[in-house]
Amino acid sequence: MGIYKLLKSDFTKEKNKIELFGCPNCNCNTLVIGVFHGDEPIGKDILENYLKNGTNKNLIIVPCLNPDGMTLNTRQNANKVDLNRNFPTKNWTKTNIGEDYYGGETPESETETKFIMQIIEEYKPKQIVTIHTPYKIVNFDGDEKAKKLAEKIAKILSYEIDDDIGYPTPGSFGTYYGKERNIPVITIELDENETLSELCQKFDRILSEL
Ligand SMILES: [Zn+2]
Repeated sequence: MGIYKLLKSDFTKEKNKIELFGCPNCNCNTLVIGVFHGDEPIGKDILENYLKNGTNKNLIIVPCLNPDGMTLNTRQNANKVDLNRNFPTKNWTKTNIGEDYYGGETPESETETKFIMQIIEEYKPKQIVTIHTPYKIVNFDGDEKAKKLAEKIAKILSYEIDDDIGYPTPGSFGTYYGKERNIPVITIELDENETLSELCQKFDRILSEL
């Protein structure tokens, strides 16, 4: 593995590992996160491909935040929690276990959520990019800076940008960090019809420019 080393790891409920990679003593400008949702595994393939040969020292990378969900092929983690509803936003609300967007018994209840929150506390990235599928759009949470970054990424992908997905997302990562903490958060929704090699080529460019 090129210039990147394992910086931090933790184990999930199923004893799968969540891992953070970066350069030792790096300038951690941008945090990149794959597989928030276990049934959207392509982010891991793209990021692991980049880790082999990539050279951008500004990046810290979590290729797969939800390894249990990936094993189970579910959106949620092994506790049936949608990690993208488990962050302690002002509008966090408790929903029922079993619902698609179940956000946990309490905010920040999940190992995966705590792992990401600790990384952000420790490395203080100035911007964050997360990879989802399948809507072929680049979403952003935050101000003009977030919008500019979304535009730059969308241009390379040939996608549109959007600052509002059209429904409230209590407990979401973007609401917590982008809106409430003012760290630009870009949520890339990949086009499921593109091949892995096409996406890897585009991400080689996106990630080298972050
Ligand atoms: Zn998703």
